[in-house]
Amino acid sequence: MRLPGLIDPHVHVREPGQTHKEDWDTATQAALAGGVTTVLAMPNTKPPIFDAATLDLALAAANEKARCDYAQYLGAGPANAAEAARLAPRAAGLKMYLDSTFGELRLDDMTLWLEHFRRWSGPGPIVVHAESRSMAAALACAQMFDRPVHIAHVSLREEILLIKEAKARGVKVTCEATPHHLFLAADDIPAISHGHPGRGEVRPRLASRADVEALWQNLDVIDCFATDHAPHTLAEKDGENPPPGFPGLETMLPLLLTAIDAGRLTFDDLIQKLAINPRKIFHLPEQPETWVEVDENARWEIRAAELRSKCGWTPFEGWQVRGRVTRVVLRGREAFKDGRILVEPGYGRNVREE
Ligand SMILES: [Zn+2]
Repeated sequence: MRLPGLIDPHVHVREPGQTHKEDWDTATQAALAGGVTTVLAMPNTKPPIFDAATLDLALAAANEKARCDYAQYLGAGPANAAEAARLAPRAAGLKMYLDSTFGELRLDDMTLWLEHFRRWSGPGPIVVHAESRSMAAALACAQMFDRPVHIAHVSLREEILLIKEAKARGVKVTCEATPHHLFLAADDIPAISHGHPGRGEVRPRLASRADVEALWQNLDVIDCFATDHAPHTLAEKDGENPPPGFPGLETMLPLLLTAIDAGRLTFDDLIQKLAINPRKIFHLPEQPETWVEVDENARWEIRAAELRSKCGWTPFEGWQVRGRVTRVVLRGREAFKDGRILVEPGYGRNVREE
């Protein structure tokens, strides 16, 4: 079975600054192994990406090391609305952290949100990490300024129902859901944790079974699937102050193919939410001569030891899945075949460069 090259609009590459967790090379190897040919990289690196100098820093690393195509987000900070708007044509989109965050991307005052909504003009949308009532406030901004807003990692029933209502009323809102919020609930945490509760930490938190069910029942409201690939090492997850986040690039497609096999999803849904819709929402160019071949009947077990991410673990350890990526062709070159990466670091292209 042949699929288009998949687009993951939510990836934490960890470079610059935290390359012991992941880097542009390993993240894009994981992407290709998972059938993803374009990653949009989040800006909360060290340093965060919020001006021309830091954008250049991230893009230099990507240019040297990425094996699949990419674009880099800018982060919305308290004082960079004008510069971010000026850099917008070079960015995947503008990421705003409206709930808890820290450092340069902290926006504690709603008047700081307004400056970004006033000035940002794309081509990429404003993407918000905004849960529950913060999400409602983000929808209000989108409506006031008539700007497209993309809600990252929807996890709650109240969120998806509010987005449904906003869409019906003409608000320019789109949204994504992650595999972990579609396949895991809070009551799975003991099984993920193996005695280390830090392994279950993720933001948004794993929700209730009713929330998970509401996402599946409102699949038509979900525009994109996105991994929120957020690798941390096992030592970090099992230590004091475990950081929130799960890896996901290599497990997303097998989990979704398994859901198709179970009749919960169609191939058309998958292609819409992992290729057609993200290309439209983020204004990404077509990738010519690019496709992903999957053996939809292959049965295998997810094992972290066989994954390419540096982080060395997965919340889906031991899951039996149906469907695996056998070959990826990216812009005319065989990039992945039968478990081997065949393109060199630097083959990936910045999709925001002409
Ligand atoms: Zn994230």
